[in-house]
Order: sequence, then structure tokens, then C-alpha cells
Amino acid sequence: MLSYQHAYHAGNFADVHKHLALFGLLGALQAKDSAITLVDTHAGRGLYPLAERMTQQNGEYREGIQKLWDRRAAFGDDTLLGEWLACLARLQKSERLQVYPGSPWWFGAVQRRQDLLSLFELHPGEHHALDSQQPMAQKQIRRIHGDGLAGLVKMQPVTTPRLCVLIDPSYELKTEYREIVKTFKAVVKKTRHAVLAVWYPLLPAGRHQAMLDTLARAGIPKIWQSELIHHAPAEGDHGMYGSGLLLLNPPWQLDRTLDTAFAELADVFGKDARHNSRWLSGE
Ligand code: SAM
Repeated sequence: MLSYQHAYHAGNFADVHKHLALFGLLGALQAKDSAITLVDTHAGRGLYPLAERMTQQNGEYREGIQKLWDRRAAFGDDTLLGEWLACLARLQKSERLQVYPGSPWWFGAVQRRQDLLSLFELHPGEHHALDSQQPMAQKQIRRIHGDGLAGLVKMQPVTTPRLCVLIDPSYELKTEYREIVKTFKAVVKKTRHAVLAVWYPLLPAGRHQAMLDTLARAGIPKIWQSELIHHAPAEGDHGMYGSGLLLLNPPWQLDRTLDTAFAELADVFGKDARHNSRWLSGE
């Protein structure tokens, strides 16, 4: 039984970390014309009006996107952060931040005519909300009510020259960490050049560590790891203190661009925030 609903967390620091990385990744991949199959394995509902009850309940966006929005004049249009905020501004009806978009929107915002987008969502209500959104004209988008990891594996090998995937589970089940490793390996086996982005939470329980250790030993080259620490967890605290991201086969020098952008993010998020990155597996 799925109970997670992303609206409770929309726009938090982890969303900012993940969506900024996705935006940078897609921009870098689109430097070449050849078509890309884009896959969002855990799409959520796509758009989150901030005034809604669920989003207001925890108000996590106030410690995330709102902090950046309030300082947006500080980021030039020639920086990744500035470009990303300008894209977000195009969705708003006024100067006030009213809606925060989820990953389907970030994919759709930059999708080109030659790119194919598949959005998987398993929760019936979330899928319905995603499906009822205005389809983007001229764009090839499939919204699938189903399991994103199984669906992704079934799609291999894809029909376009390139593949770019976001894997962003809710980690309601501890088994999801193992499922991701299995999926990662299955995709790479059929599509060696696949570009995969995997998000994971940093929790005091350290559940992500086994996933990282297994992937580091899997013999899959070129996995870059980025961790945005939001705050130091207090004694006995079980909540998420940071946001982690793995990028398989990132385009050349994207790691440098993201390092710069994430260092700027950490500055905005406060004195306890910092960003660390490394190659989990090299060439
Ligand atoms: N990617 C979204 C974003 O960035 O805006 C947020 C996704 S949220 C963290 C995870 C979503 O995955 C939830 O909407 C949940 O219902 C959905 N989900 C859970 N298990 C799934 C599965 N096996 N396949 C597809 N979707 C799943």
C-alpha cells in the first residue's frame, strides 16, 4: 500500500538539489542534436501549488526553494542556478512563488521535439493528477500507471541514440535500495551509455550506504556522487539531514558545473550546509 505523497515535501532542499542537477544534466546532454529517451521512473504528480494544505502542513519549501527564490537576484543568468531560477519564474503568475514543479515538469520544460518522455507513477491518485495536467503540445509524452523500475528495464534497449533516466523513489520500503542496484545493473547491461540519475536520502540510519558500496564494487565505470548536507542531525533525530545523488555517465565537465552550483546552494541554505562530491567509480 503506497502512502507517500510528494506534496508534503515539495520544494524542500532535496528537491532543489535533485531538480537543479536534472536541469544541468539535460542542458548538457542537449548540446548534441541526437534524440534522447527521457524516463522518470517515479514521477509524482508534477505540479505542487504551495498554498495547498499538504504542502503547507510541513512547509518544507520554506527551508528549500523559498530561500533561493528570495535571493534570486543574486544569481546571474549565465550561471546554472540563475538559468534554473529563470525557468522556474516562467511558471509563476506573479513575482511571488506560487507553484513548485516536480520532475515531470522539469523534464517537459526542456524536452525537444526529437526527445521522447516516459513518466511512470504507481500511486493511482498521483498518476491521475499527473495525467489530468494539460498535455504539452507537440511533445511526445507517455504517462504510465505502473512500476517505474520494471518499466524502465522493459524499455531496454531504447529506440533513440541516447537515454537519460531519473530514479527517484520514496524509499517507503527498505528493499528499494536493493531494487535500484538491480535495475541499475540491468539497464547498463543492455544500454552501456545510459545516463542515470539516482536520488537517495541521507538519514542517520545510513540505509543508503549498502547501495553505494554495492554499486562502487559493481565494475560499472563513471559514477559521480554528490551529497548536499543540509544540517547536522541532532542526537536521536531520525529525519533526513541531507540529499544524495548518483550520476552515471554525466557529460564531460558537468561535475564541475554542479560542484559550483551546489556550493552556492549550500551558502544559501545556511552555515551548517555543505556539499561534497567524488567519483564513486572512475573511468
Ligand atoms: N520524482 C518526483 C519529483 O522529483 O517531483 C517525486 C517522486 S516521489 C519522491 C516518489 C513517487 O514514486 C511517489 O509519487 C510514489 O507514489 C511513486 N512510486 C512509489 N513506488 C513506485 C514504483 N514502483 N513505480 C513508480 N512510482 C512509484
